[in-house]
Amino acid sequence: MNPRLRLKALVSSLLSLLYPPLCLHCGCALQNRGPLFCSPCLGQMCLFETGERCRTCFGEFYKGRCERCMHRPVVISRQLAACEAMGPALSILKGIHNGKKECIPAAASLMAYQWLEQKLLLPELLIPLPFSIWQKQRYGFDVNLLLARELGKVFGVPVVDALKGKFDWPRFFTKGELGSAIAADEQKARILCDQRILLVAPQMEDSLFRRAGEELASFFPAEIDALAFAAY
Ligand SMILES: [Zn+2]
Ligand SMILES: [Zn+2]
Repeated sequence: MNPRLRLKALVSSLLSLLYPPLCLHCGCALQNRGPLFCSPCLGQMCLFETGERCRTCFGEFYKGRCERCMHRPVVISRQLAACEAMGPALSILKGIHNGKKECIPAAASLMAYQWLEQKLLLPELLIPLPFSIWQKQRYGFDVNLLLARELGKVFGVPVVDALKGKFDWPRFFTKGELGSAIAADEQKARILCDQRILLVAPQMEDSLFRRAGEELASFFPAEIDALAFAAY
């Protein structure tokens, strides 16, 4: 079997691994052991049409690159989201935000599908966006890291948590606001040199991906792309 078909088969089997008793979107009872959703809801699930999106920031209503991206330095070569944040996909996104672990493999499978659909080269390393310390305490696990690991299993690509969140002292001192900033883990980021890296997060956020990319650019990766599960 060619590698792309093998990946698709693996993605399908991952999707079918998920067996909660209720449809995650409409809440109806699922008859048999099945996926996260009932058939009508699963039927609404589709990959994001990327034709009308800016390839650099995934902004709306552009073909190629948008006006904003044409006038700023390229940090992330390509940003992509698997699904539009509506219907059953929005239920998965909310599930992830609420720490429902069963949503993570489903999101990762759809992300892999989207990547393959675009016929893009597989990345060499996956890097999750850092999860805030507060979120980690709330859920007891790092959602972004788990998502990257699931995607790593499908792609057969290693995950390096080369980014970390830190308290944003400059923002605190200048504006009196609490927030977190992104920093590279210098030890871990050393291996990024000449690698095609893919940043991973549940939700598309251009400014966050860009900040992460700027932190990692000084370690000379060959290319930085970003993949999110959902975008609005
Ligand atoms: Zn349903
Ligand atoms: Zn753009």
